[in-house]
Formats: sequence, structure tokens, C-alpha cells
Amino acid sequence: MLNIVLFGPPGAGKGTQAEKLIAKYNLCHLSTGDIFRANIKGETELGKLAKSYMDKGELVPDSVTIAMLESEVNKNPTAQGFIFDGFPRTTPQAEALAAFLNSKATDVSVMLALDVEEQELINRLLLRGKNSGRADDSDESIIANRIKVYNEQTAVVADFYAAQGKFEKIVGKGGIEAVFDKLCKAIDKYKQVTSN
Ligand code: AMP
Repeated sequence: MLNIVLFGPPGAGKGTQAEKLIAKYNLCHLSTGDIFRANIKGETELGKLAKSYMDKGELVPDSVTIAMLESEVNKNPTAQGFIFDGFPRTTPQAEALAAFLNSKATDVSVMLALDVEEQELINRLLLRGKNSGRADDSDESIIANRIKVYNEQTAVVADFYAAQGKFEKIVGKGGIEAVFDKLCKAIDKYKQVTSN
């Protein structure tokens, strides 16, 4: 299986690139942010809980997020692999994902980390907020908090994969197609060494 963790700060282009990657590699796209937003729209209990954190730009607690992610993976038993987008965002999430995938005789193949400078992230998020109406993209103080949370709680997850030789930094500037090409080159390299 090819299991990719698509990583990077909010606004780095994870969602855009994930859409292109799933089409090319025939993978199942799991975006925890999208799943939370679908739950908010459906007014589920999970949605209500998630909203209380998302509205502030904080992370939804690990226990809730991990259980949800595992259940989504289990809903796709025939998938040839997954793109995890926006997950893991903490080291306990990364550890839980490893244990969960190992129990299915597979593992994360590689973390691809999109690297974009901070001012560019803010500009992109504000533009997305205007176009999509996403509340957490429309308010500069919430955006600032999301970037802070990323730097303080999420960036460290890269070390977890780097320690296993599964970390690739991808410079996220130069246009969507140029970044996509870089991602594909990195994936093709790891595909050759992924045996299960
Ligand atoms: P995203 O769509 O990935 O930018 O996520 C939007 C929001 O959903 C985040 O700011 C968090 O509040 C929440 N969220 C998404 N994924 C996670 C995760 N893996 N762990 C905790 N909270 C998450």
C-alpha cells in the first residue's frame, strides 16, 4: 500500500494537491478538516464538538480525532492506499496512526511536507476565506492562531517521520503544477521502496 501523509501549515496547498494526487495514484483521500466540516454541516455531536475548537483555530482533541480517522480508514477496506491530509497534527496522532496501520500490516510510506513562507500562507488563507466563506479562514486572528498552533504542536510531527527516513520537504512555491510535479517525483521514489 502507498500511504502518504501530506503535511504543511494551513494554506500550504494540501487540499489542492491531494485532489490531484488521488486522481493520479488512485488513493483514498482522508482530510480530517473536511470530515469535521461535513459533521458540522450535518449537525452531528462530533460536529458540535469539533466546531468549538475549529472556531478558535485550536486542535480538536487527539482521542476524538484519532477515533474518527480510524473509523474512516475502516470504511475503505478496498483502498489501495491513503492520502492523509491534515492528519497527524500531533506526535500522539502520529504514534496512533503507526500502531493502527501496523495492525493492518501496513505503514506510512512517506510524509511529504509542503513548505510555504508565512506571509504567503496568510494571503492564501484570506483569499480562500473570501471565496469559500470558511469562518476560520476569514479572521486574521484565527489564522494567526492556527499558524501558531501549527508551529507549536504540529511542526514537530516532521521529526517523527524524519527519524524513520520517511520525510521529504517540498518547496510549495512556483504554481500548482510545479509543486505537483515535485510531489510526484518524491512519491515515485518512495513507491519503489514500498513493498507492502
Ligand atoms: P484543515 O481543514 O486541515 O485546515 O483543518 C481545519 C481545523 O480542523 C483545524 O484548525 C483543527 O481545528 C481541526 N483539525 C483538522 N485536522 C485535525 C487534526 N488532525 N487534529 C486536530 N484538529 C484537527
